[in-house]
Formats: sequence, structure tokens, C-alpha cells
Amino acid sequence: MREGILYVVGIGPGEYEQMTIKAVNALQQSQVIVGYTVYVDLVRAHFPEKEYLSTPMTREVERCRMAFEKAGEGQVVSMVCSGDPGIYGMAGLILELAPEYPRVTVEIIAGVTAASAGAAVLGAPVCHDFAVISLSDRLTSKEAIEKKLEHAAMSDMAVCLYNPSSRQRKGYLKWACDIVGRYQGPKTVCGLVRNIGRQGQHREIMTLEELADAEADMFTTVYIGNSRTVEIEGRMVTPRGYRHV
Ligand code: SAH
Repeated sequence: MREGILYVVGIGPGEYEQMTIKAVNALQQSQVIVGYTVYVDLVRAHFPEKEYLSTPMTREVERCRMAFEKAGEGQVVSMVCSGDPGIYGMAGLILELAPEYPRVTVEIIAGVTAASAGAAVLGAPVCHDFAVISLSDRLTSKEAIEKKLEHAAMSDMAVCLYNPSSRQRKGYLKWACDIVGRYQGPKTVCGLVRNIGRQGQHREIMTLEELADAEADMFTTVYIGNSRTVEIEGRMVTPRGYRHV
């Protein structure tokens, strides 16, 4: 018999207004909220009466098991993820572990991912086909990342980069720009948004050659346009082509 409920909740990029009503309802129904410290702190202010459990960034399996164990006791638990839990979030790992916890019902709740929240800040940079690629090589080899970047650029897709840089991965953004530069010109319109929906939100539009030397950190999402991407009055726009049909 199933007893506990485990919601895997996407809380959006940061600000409360970008959380879905469904996510808010799940958090309201929960007794326990589990997550990486930074995300737990983002929701704590709005749901102060909950029990909170957090683990550092790299303890993913431990954090998921902690959530299952709490839910297995018959509680309603939310595991919070930034953005969407199904995009570089915990949804996959939770569902991989779920067969070990047959008494727990899992429900995944979508959220506004950084790619679309940041896109709205810049304009419409990914309004046509685009690829989402993470530059983190913690779980993927650098060779595999290079192949993905290369094929996206080769097929003239706009690219949205997650995890563009961190203290251990300085220089990765330049490396990615060089790979894209094999197929796209140095003046290709690019942009980045830091701290989307959070304090200190910052946006910039620049060329591919400028992006190679731009400052990006682990709270930055990067956009590389395709050959048709333009800047219109300070907005980055990748046209779908409506004006040319
Ligand atoms: N599940 C998340 C992504 C987690 S991977 C989502 O759907 O958005 C972490 C990466 O996401 C960061 O390195 C950054 O590139 C991006 N990101 C997440 N939140 C962000 C924010 N508020 N501002 C800018 N980038 C963000």
C-alpha cells in the first residue's frame, strides 16, 4: 500500500512570482521540504512553518534517499529544485530510486526553467529550434560536450548554455565559444543573464567573440544565437521567420 507522497517541485529561477500555482500548492501541502541549501533558503521565507532538510550540492543520492525515507514514514514531502526538476534537476534520479520505495507516490511538478526565464529577460533569443547544453563535466565527458556543441552549431541552432563556468571550470565558456566559432561568425549575437529572478539580476548582449572573454559564474545562463539572430533595440531576437513566409 502506498503511504507517503514525494513531490519533486520546480521552484522556478528564484522569485516567488515565477513559481507556478501548482508548485505553491504542493509546498503548502507538504510537512517536509528537502533540497540543496540555496534552494531551500529561497522557499523558506514563504513557507516558514515547514520542517526543512538540506544537504550540500554534491550529495544528490543522499538527499533523494532522505526525501524518500521521510515520505516512507507517511509524510507529504517536497524535494525542491531550481527551475524545472526535469532539466538538470532531481526528477530523473528520484524516478531511478523510486522502485526501492514502493510505498511512496512520486509526482513531478514542472517549473520555469532558466532557459525560458532568462530568454524573457533578454528578449526572444531561443524563439526557434535550439539546443540546451550544460558545460559541466562532472557527469559528462568533455569530449561528449564538445560533440554536442559542435553539432548544434553545425546545424545552425541557437544554443542555451547551463553551468557555463565555476571555480573549477574557468575557461570553459571560451572553449565552448571557440567550438561554436568553427561554424558561426565572430559577430553572432549572444547574451547572458546572471541571477535571473534573484537579487542582482544582470543581463548583457554581445558578440560571440566578446562572449569568449565574458564573466560567467554558476548562476549565469548563456545564449548563443544562430546565423539569423539580431539585436533589436537592446533585445536579442532569434526570428522564427514569420515575416518571410
Ligand atoms: N533545474 C534548473 C537547472 C539546474 S543546472 C533549471 O531548470 O533552471 C544549474 C544551472 O542553471 C546554472 O549553472 C545556470 O546556468 C542555470 N540557472 C539556474 N537558475 C538560474 C538563475 N536564477 N539565474 C541564472 N542562471 C540560472
